[in-house]
Amino acid sequence: MTDVSWDRTVDVLIAGSGIGGLGSAVIAAAAGATVEVVEKAEKIGGTTAKSAAYMWIPNNRYLRASGRTDPREDALRYMARLSRPRLYDADHETLGLPEWEYRGIAAFYDHASEAADEYERLGVLEFGHAADFPDYYAHLPEDAAPTGRILFPAESEGGPSGGEILIGRLAAHCERSGVPITTGARITSLIQDDLGAVIGAVVDVGIETVRIKTRRGVVLATGGFTQDPVRRLRYLDHSYVGGCAARTNTGDILDIVREVGADFANMNIGMRAPMVLERLLTDPAAVRGSFMIPGDSMLIVNRFGKRVISEKTPYHDFARAFFEWDSGIAAYPNNPLIMLWDDAAQRFGGDGFGNPIPAEGEDPYWVVTADSFTDLEKGIGERLERLRAMTGRVELAAEFSGTLAATVERYNTMARRGVDDDFGRGSTPIEQALSAFFGVGEGPNPMMAPLSADGPYHATVLGPALIDTAGGPRVDHNNQVVRPDDQPIPGLYAVGNCAATPSGEAYWAGGHTIGFIQCAAYVAAKHITS
Ligand SMILES: Cc1cc2nc3c(=O)[nH]c(=O)nc-3n(C[C@H](O)[C@H](O)[C@H](O)COP(=O)(O)OP(=O)(O)OC[C@H]3O[C@@H](n4cnc5c(N)ncnc54)[C@H](O)[C@@H]3O)c2cc1C
Repeated sequence: MTDVSWDRTVDVLIAGSGIGGLGSAVIAAAAGATVEVVEKAEKIGGTTAKSAAYMWIPNNRYLRASGRTDPREDALRYMARLSRPRLYDADHETLGLPEWEYRGIAAFYDHASEAADEYERLGVLEFGHAADFPDYYAHLPEDAAPTGRILFPAESEGGPSGGEILIGRLAAHCERSGVPITTGARITSLIQDDLGAVIGAVVDVGIETVRIKTRRGVVLATGGFTQDPVRRLRYLDHSYVGGCAARTNTGDILDIVREVGADFANMNIGMRAPMVLERLLTDPAAVRGSFMIPGDSMLIVNRFGKRVISEKTPYHDFARAFFEWDSGIAAYPNNPLIMLWDDAAQRFGGDGFGNPIPAEGEDPYWVVTADSFTDLEKGIGERLERLRAMTGRVELAAEFSGTLAATVERYNTMARRGVDDDFGRGSTPIEQALSAFFGVGEGPNPMMAPLSADGPYHATVLGPALIDTAGGPRVDHNNQVVRPDDQPIPGLYAVGNCAATPSGEAYWAGGHTIGFIQCAAYVAAKHITS
C-alpha cells in the first residue's frame, strides 16, 4: 500500500494513554523520537487512572537497598509456577512454560527494575516502597523475596489515588517533552507496506479521519476488551458481569491486528475481582472491584446460605469461587455470593478499593439492612430481582435463612477460637495484609469475630467481575507483535492489557499488571528507538 496520502509523519505513534501508552511515550521521547499519542476517550488515563498504581517490580533497587535479595532463578520459578500450574517444571529450561511465555517473564525480571529506575531518572515519578507488603503467595517455597517487591507513586502514600497521580505525572512529562496527546481519537486500522511492515495508522478524530505515517512504528496500548459483552462471551472461559476497566476498553485492536496477520494468545483469561453488583448497575464508570474484603464479624455465603471460601482470599483467586459448577442442580451455586456483616463491623467501612462496607456518611444504596435473617432474606430477594440481568435470574434457596443461621452458628464457634477449620481464614500473610487495609480487629484471630446474636445485619450481593482481560495479540520479549510463525511484524508493538500477557493464569502480587506494563512500555520504547 504505497499510494497513501499521509496527513503527517512521526517516529512513533502510540494508541492509548494508560501506563502502557504514556510509559512508552516518555521513554521513546527521551530517546529523541518524535512521538504522538492518540486516546479514544475524552479523558486520558484509561484503567490506569482508576488504579492505585501499585507496581510489582522484582529485584527493585529499594528492595536491594534494604539488604534483601531477589535472585533471578527463584523469582522466575515463583512466576512460572503460578502462571502455568499444570505445566510448571522447576528443572526444565523454560520451567515448563511455552517458550514465548518464559522469554516474556524472563525479560520482565531482567528489565523491570531498570525501567522503574529510568522513570525516576527522567523525573517522571518518585517511588514509595511497600517494604513489608507480602506477595499473594508469599507462603510458597518458590517465593524467595516474599516482601519488598511493591512500589507505588510516593505522593499517593499507597492510597487509592496512585493511578491518577501516575497519569498526571506521565502526562506532564509528555507535555514537557513535546509529545501531543489527542483525546477523542481512536485508532481504526494499520497501514502496511508491500512487505507487510506497519508504516502508519488511520485514526478517527471525531468526524475527521487522519492518516499518520510512522518512521519507527506503532505502539498499541489500548487496554483489554472488558467493556465489550460480545467479545467477553466469545473469548473468555467464564461469564463475567462486566468489570472496572475503562469504559472505552472494548478490544478495538483485535480486529485491527488480525488484518495484519497477528497471532493471538490467552484470549480466555481475565484478571478477576468480586464486585458489588448494585454499584456496577448504578455507576458502571466509577465502580471498582472489591480488592479487599474488610471486617471481622463478617462472612460471605452462597444463595443456599453456606460459606464457600475464606472471605479474605486475594481478589483474583476469590473470584474463582463464583465459577464452581454443581452438576446436580446444573447451576453455579456460588454465583452470586452474599456478604453479610453486623453493626460492629460497620467500623471497617471506607472509601476506595471497592470496599463493600460503606464509609460513614456515604449513601449505602447497595446495602440491605434488616433486624433478622428472615427479613434480610426478603431484602436480598428484592435486590436479586433488580439484578436479574446480571445474575442469570437466580433466587435465594427456599431454606436460605435457616441454613444461614446454622452457618453463622458454626462460624461463630470457630471465630471464638480464632481458627477457621473450614477455609483457613486469615492464615496467610497476604490475607492478613489485605484485611488490614480498613482496620484490624481484635481477639485470637483479628480477621474473624463472631457475628452479633442480634441485628441489625447488613448485606450486599457480589458477582464475578474483570479488572481487565489478559489476552490479545501475542508479542515477543521486545513487545513486538508476532505472526503465528513467531516472526515479528516489523513496526508493530503491543503493551499492556491489549496484548497477550505471558503471565498466563497468574496474578503474582499486588501491582502485578502495572509493574509488568511499566516494564513492557520501557522495553518496547527502547527497542523501537534503537
Ligand atoms: C480500581 C482498579 C485498581 C487497580 N489497581 C491496580 C494496582 O494498584 N496495581 C496494578 O498493577 N494494577 C491495578 N489495576 C489494574 C491496572 O489498572 C490495569 O491493568 C492497567 O492500568 C492497564 O494499563 P494499560 O495501559 O494496559 O490500559 P489502560 O490504562 O486501560 O489504557 C488503555 C487506554 O486505551 C484507550 N483506547 C482503547 N481503544 C482505543 C483505540 N482504538 N484508540 C486509541 N485509544 C484506545 C482507552 O480509552 C484507555 O484510555 C487496577 C484496576 C482497577 C480498575
